[in-house]
Amino acid sequence: MMEPPKIWRERRGKYLALGIECLDCKTKQFPVVDNCSTCNSNNLKEYKLAENGKILYFTTVTKTIDEMMVNAPYIIALIELSDGIKITGQIVDCNYEELEEGMDVRMIFRILAKDGSEGLIRYGYKFSPCR
Ligand SMILES: [Zn+2]
Repeated sequence: MMEPPKIWRERRGKYLALGIECLDCKTKQFPVVDNCSTCNSNNLKEYKLAENGKILYFTTVTKTIDEMMVNAPYIIALIELSDGIKITGQIVDCNYEELEEGMDVRMIFRILAKDGSEGLIRYGYKFSPCR
């Protein structure tokens, strides 16, 4: 079972799009971790992920968990940010036919999901093609 601070950090990482940089070996990582995956150091600092990246792969999602169905069908992509981090995210503001691997995208903040009957709205990052 995850202890509350870890859950909180992961949520914060998703919401603010924060990564971790190792101050010893300079490796950048996402999602936020407790120890560097390269040198195991805990001498880490948070940094704001690069907002620009390129599409590596993309596909359409038609069925998903209930709270995400508000968005379906939607396009999801694996993106390599300009800081080297690979991240998955929804692609918005375009049609599937317009997309190509290698296309430049930028991170934007949008509604991610509406949680159940309480109508709680969660915001997070998505990606929009650079035109
Ligand atoms: Zn390291």
